[in-house]
Amino acid sequence: MHKCFLDYTKCSVPIIALLPKHWDAWLAKQEAAAKQWLRTINFLGTKAGSVALIPRCDGQLKQAIIVLNDEADFWSFGTLPDILPAGHYHYAEPQSINLLHRAVMAWGLGAYEFTKYKASTKPLAQLLLPAEIDADVLEAKLTAVYRVRDLINTPTEAMGPAELAHAVLQVGKKFHATVTEIIGDALLLKNYPAIHAVGRASLRAPRLIDLTWGSITAPKVTVVGKGICFDAGGLNIKSGASMLLMKKDMGGAAQALGLAEMIMAMNLPVRLRLLIPAAENLIAGNAYKPGDIITMRNGLSVEVDCTDAEGRLVLADALTEADSENPALLIVFSTLTGAARVAVGTEISAFFTAQETLAQDLLVCSDEEQDPMWRLPLYKPYQKILDSKLADMCNSGSSPYAGAITAALFLRAFVQESTVWVHIDSNAYNVNYRPGRPEGGEAMAVLAVLHYLMKKYTTH
Ligand SMILES: [Zn+2]
Repeated sequence: MHKCFLDYTKCSVPIIALLPKHWDAWLAKQEAAAKQWLRTINFLGTKAGSVALIPRCDGQLKQAIIVLNDEADFWSFGTLPDILPAGHYHYAEPQSINLLHRAVMAWGLGAYEFTKYKASTKPLAQLLLPAEIDADVLEAKLTAVYRVRDLINTPTEAMGPAELAHAVLQVGKKFHATVTEIIGDALLLKNYPAIHAVGRASLRAPRLIDLTWGSITAPKVTVVGKGICFDAGGLNIKSGASMLLMKKDMGGAAQALGLAEMIMAMNLPVRLRLLIPAAENLIAGNAYKPGDIITMRNGLSVEVDCTDAEGRLVLADALTEADSENPALLIVFSTLTGAARVAVGTEISAFFTAQETLAQDLLVCSDEEQDPMWRLPLYKPYQKILDSKLADMCNSGSSPYAGAITAALFLRAFVQESTVWVHIDSNAYNVNYRPGRPEGGEAMAVLAVLHYLMKKYTTH
C-alpha cells in the first residue's frame, strides 16, 4: 500500500468535509473553544477548498475541516496531503460512498511527489483506509498514475527510447506479458520507415516497443502511445521556450503504459496490445528533412512539410501494425498538437472518433471520473489541407488553422474505416498546481478510459 495510507490505527484525527451551505448548522453544534478558535483565525467556511485545523485544549490537533465546492467535489481532498501536518487521519462522516471512493483517490493522487532529484518536502500525513475501499484497486490505479507522472517528469537524459522500453519491460514482467522491440535499422527491415526516419538523427536508436497480454480469444484492445522522448522539432527547430518542456513529448506513451498497467492489474478480460513508437526528434547530418517523401508502412507516400509534425509519422506506422490484426478497440494517446491546447486548453483532453456511441460513452465516463475530455470533429473536408503535389499527402499542411483536426485526419488515413478507434490529444502535464494534480507530468484521460473499459468488459 502507498505510504500515504494506513490500514490500521488506534487513534487518528477526523477530517470533516463541509459544504458552505451546511457551515452555520455545523458551527452551531461545536464547543465554545472551537467556535472561538475559528473566529480567531477568521475562518468563515465559505471558501471552497479552504482548510482549518482545530486544536484541543492541550494543543494537540483535534480535527481538520475542509470546505468543498459541491456535493461531487472530491478533488479538494487532494490538497490535504500537501498541507496537513504529519500524523494519522480519517475521513469522518462521508456524504456518500461514491464521494468516499473518489476522495480517497484524490488523497492518493495529491500525495505524489517527484523525488528522483530532490528530497521530499512534505510532512507525511497518512489516511486510514476505510473498510469500503478496495485496497487492491486503489493501489493499482495509484501505482500506474505515479509511474506515468514519474516517466514524464524524468528528464530525457534519463528517459530515452531505451529507458522507455525498460519501463515497459518492468511493467510487463509484473504481469507475465510478452514484450518485444524492433530497434534502429531493424525498423527498416521490418518496414517501419517513418519511426526510423524520425528517430535516426539521435545517438539513441529509435524503436517500436510491443507488449501483449491476455487470452488470445478475448476481445482485442490495442493501446498506442506517442513516445517522442525529446522533440527538438528536427530541422524545423523549435524555439527555446517551446523546446523547454519537450521531455514530455513521450507523455502519450507514458499514459498508454499507465492504462495498460491498470488493465493488467485489474485482470480485465481482454487481449491487450500496447504499441509504443519511441524516438528522439533531433538534428544531425542524417536527420530527415523538409521535402523528404516517406513511403509509410501501409504504402501511402507522405511529403514531410514540417519535421516538427513527427508524432503523427511515428504513430502512423504503429497504427498500421495495430490495425492489421483488427482490434475490437484501438486507443491512441499522444501529446500531438499545440492546436489542441489552443482549442481546449491544457487541462482538457481533446479526442476524436468516428463512432458516436464510443464518443458518448467516453463523455459520460469523463464526467463521472471528473477527468475532462472533449470531442473535436473529424471534419473530412479539411483533408484537403493535407494535399501534396508530389505525394499522397503531406504531414502538416498549409493552413495555420484546425491543426488538431488535420493531425487526427492524418492518423485516420492509417486505420480502416471499420475499426473502432479513438485518438486522444492531451497535454499530459499540469502546467499549474491543482488539488490532487501537482505541477508536472499527468495521466490525463487515463482514468476516464479505464472507467469506460471496466464498464464495457466487466460486470461490475
Ligand atoms: Zn514535434
